[in-house]
Amino acid sequence: MLEMIINDKACRGCKLCLDVCPTDCFVYNEETNKAIVDKVENCIGCLSCAYICPSGAIVHKNHHVVGNFYRNIYFSKRMEKFL
Ligand code: SF4
Ligand code: SF4
Repeated sequence: MLEMIINDKACRGCKLCLDVCPTDCFVYNEETNKAIVDKVENCIGCLSCAYICPSGAIVHKNHHVVGNFYRNIYFSKRMEKFL
């Protein structure tokens, strides 16, 4: 069973994971300003979120990569401001 964990302390609330996820696995908590894993069952294991997260806050366990790696140049450019 796939597990996905967001390290709360590391998350800086940039929402890039929400933007990049093709299956809407995340929601945003407006009170804490952090991303939350909402529908782990929707995850296709593309690892785009883990790739794009500027804090390296997203960890997957027991995943099988079934989708193509999803890399979008637009989001990559947005990420540059965090580097
Ligand atoms: S991409 Fe990373 S830092 Fe940004 S909201 Fe998602 S988990 Fe938090
Ligand atoms: S691995 Fe892909 S499908 Fe799964 S939560 Fe991350 S971006 Fe979404």
